Amino acid sequence: MYLLELDRTMCVSCGTCIDICPEVFEFTNDGLSSIKDVEISDLQKLEMDDPLCTEDAMENCPSGAIKVYRD
Ligand code: SF4
Repeated sequence: MYLLELDRTMCVSCGTCIDICPEVFEFTNDGLSSIKDVEISDLQKLEMDDPLCTEDAMENCPSGAIKVYRD
């Protein structure tokens, strides 16, 4: 099991995660990245069986807003 966390307060709206991992991330009306289908909040969390492209997004996010933890 994996836990994806997105700290939206750290997002600088560069769009990299959306380019790398559009299955999981999208821009919302406030101009910040968000995890699809997760309620908008400063800190979004999503449990995932498969991390998909989120680890690539974490490694390429310039602000460190994305974290992926393995249980
Ligand atoms: S890569 Fe990081 S800083 Fe850029 S849009 Fe995604 S969460 Fe925000």
